[in-house]
Amino acid sequence: MSKLNIVLFGPPGAGKGTQSAFLIQRYGLVHLSTGDLLRGEIKEETELGIAAKELMDRGDLVPDHIVIGMIRNKIESHLEAKGFIFDGFPRTQAQAEALDEMLNAKSEPIVAMLALEVPDEELVKRLANRGKSSGRADDQDEATARKRIAVYTRETSPLKEYYKAQGKFMPINGVGSLDEITDRLVKAIG
Ligand code: AMP
Repeated sequence: MSKLNIVLFGPPGAGKGTQSAFLIQRYGLVHLSTGDLLRGEIKEETELGIAAKELMDRGDLVPDHIVIGMIRNKIESHLEAKGFIFDGFPRTQAQAEALDEMLNAKSEPIVAMLALEVPDEELVKRLANRGKSSGRADDQDEATARKRIAVYTRETSPLKEYYKAQGKFMPINGVGSLDEITDRLVKAIG
């Protein structure tokens, strides 16, 4: 059976992590969040984590080769997976191309890019709220939150065109109750 490899796409605060949790349960997928992986490296105070922390705290992207390497390792260590949900990856054209190369080499391509769409002002509110419980510096500081949204708009959102060209882009309204948004995602997956 072919694997259900999905890119869950969207700006910071769109609800990618929250919705991933539902989808991995429902479809038995493996969740790959580069943000979570990087925060794990920071917690363990690895060399990689120490280098990444400064960039993350500023709201900048971590270099492509670092996140591509992390994703490559995870794909190779979950050969049994029914599929992956890529959350917060890819964020640049180079990352998207590297992911396609890795998956196409296994004949297990991305089947859909589900793009959660949420207005910027709503994102700023959600990030501030999340910051209160997560303690994440990049959420708590409004200027950093806005910078991450700007980085997304400039460097990441053009990937919609990349996946559109492959016929895989599926926009999803990311405003509503958690259940409503899950329903929209499940319908899109079909
Ligand atoms: P996230 O948890 O997805 O919001 O990611 C938090 C931060 O980790 C981002 O603001 C970036 O600094 C870094 N990061 C996560 N994923 C990537 C990625 N695919 N490419 C570059 N930087 C990333």
